[in-house]
Amino acid sequence: MIRIIDKSKCCGCNACVQRCPKQCISMREDEEGFLYPYVDIPLCVDCGICEKVCPVLNQEEPRKPLQVFAAKNKNEDQRLRSSSGGIFILLAEQTIREGGVVFGARFDKNWEVEHCYAETLEELEPLMRSKYVQSCIGNTYKEAERFLKGGRKVLFVGTSCQIAGLHRFLKRDYDNLFTVDFICHGVPSPGVWRKYLGEIENCIPSRSEGAGKNSVLSFSLKSMPVITGINFREKQLGGYCWKKYGFVVHTKSPSKGDQNTVLLSTIFQENIFMKAFLQNLILRPSCYSCPAKEGRSRSDLTIADFWGIETVFPKFDDDKGVGVVFVHTEKGENVFSSIDVECMDVEFDDAVKSNSSYCKSVSIPIGRVTFWKYYHKGKTIFFSWNKTAMPSLLLRVKIKIRTVTIKCLRSCIK
Ligand SMILES: Cc1cc2nc3c(=O)[nH]c(=O)nc-3n(C[C@H](O)[C@H](O)[C@H](O)COP(=O)(O)OP(=O)(O)OC[C@H]3O[C@@H](n4cnc5c(N)ncnc54)[C@H](O)[C@@H]3O)c2cc1C
Ligand code: SF4
Ligand code: SF4
Ligand code: SF4
Repeated sequence: MIRIIDKSKCCGCNACVQRCPKQCISMREDEEGFLYPYVDIPLCVDCGICEKVCPVLNQEEPRKPLQVFAAKNKNEDQRLRSSSGGIFILLAEQTIREGGVVFGARFDKNWEVEHCYAETLEELEPLMRSKYVQSCIGNTYKEAERFLKGGRKVLFVGTSCQIAGLHRFLKRDYDNLFTVDFICHGVPSPGVWRKYLGEIENCIPSRSEGAGKNSVLSFSLKSMPVITGINFREKQLGGYCWKKYGFVVHTKSPSKGDQNTVLLSTIFQENIFMKAFLQNLILRPSCYSCPAKEGRSRSDLTIADFWGIETVFPKFDDDKGVGVVFVHTEKGENVFSSIDVECMDVEFDDAVKSNSSYCKSVSIPIGRVTFWKYYHKGKTIFFSWNKTAMPSLLLRVKIKIRTVTIKCLRSCIK
């Protein structure tokens, strides 16, 4: 029976919940805002199935990809509307045209992130682009299994641990299943995201965002804005591009005649949620010892941003988005060769040089404890983040003593 003692040993894939024959496992949110499984012990028959499907307890060996490509979707509009090279939408459209089903992540009506499926071309749009929050996988493995057993093609896209969880859940290979993961830096907390959204809706600006030249934050409490769109990877509007992408939130406000307007627009490095994400303060504990990197997810393809393309192949880079594609299987080779991309062979080392998350998990930052200490006290995301940037007096004294000691030792040795 699954018992979560060490939270770093659960990536929240939901495979155990969906496979339990007694349906006695449910997911509950912890104090950091991540979901973990809980077993209703009196109902459990100790069959051990939950342990067998767990991708953390049963990790695969790393695989070297068969081929690696730099790739761009030839349709520029689609590429600009995607996070990086626009590879996902090509794979997805092809699947739909062949009568298949596409699983991916979208925002729900409360702007939280959930996995779902699309059966039409129109339903694909919400699945496009990265949402830097852990998606709730729900019952999507079960739904995918139903389609697979019914003979429909299924494209399933997710984090590497979600794809590893899906493969373990399904137990066997299906010819009609195609799985795609991405290089995964880690997933931020859905709880922090919810709080952050509340803060921006209530117009509690962070200092850095409130002062941004592209920010619009002028609502009174009587005219609470309603969010109408969120883009973590804005590449076109506001002067943003692929490498310097924007984080943009659109709203409708009664005071502005319900017109669509921009509530928040900042370059990603200045957005407080993105800072907390990229400084690894709000990642799921399992992301610091990821069970599914380096091809261990058993995906057919891994897609990602080709960071560093400007030094490897400058001519291929137009700052509108270049993807990197790692082909792991024969099925992956066949499908990738059938979509309409501009691509070129690249060396594995060149592809991962500026994208260490392919191979390595990020480290737990010193500031993580401080962030959560203030978060649990009810402080704003900005306040909690700001405290991590300012070391405590004790820490500063410790650093000073260490520096002075090292200097003294060095001069004694000399
Ligand atoms: C949390 C996260 C961390 C990432 N870390 C890195 C990294 O370190 N390095 C790197 O090069 N790339 C990373 N990526 C991938 C990158 O942002 C692009 O998604 C990828 O390059 C594919 O781009 P695209 O233009 O082909 O497709 P896009 O149109 O961007 O499609 C993205 C696909 O990912 C799915 N997706 C979006 N958000 C989530 C989510 N929260 N959970 C599961 N699936 C989701 C979508 O449904 C869609 O299928 C990360 C993505 C996410 C969501
Ligand atoms: S041991 Fe079997 S019955 Fe018990 S929680 Fe796990 S899967 Fe469910
Ligand atoms: S990693 Fe997935 S299968 Fe394993 S315990 Fe966590 S939710 Fe269950
Ligand atoms: S870093 Fe690993 S454990 Fe964390 S979400 Fe990504 S694939 Fe899952």
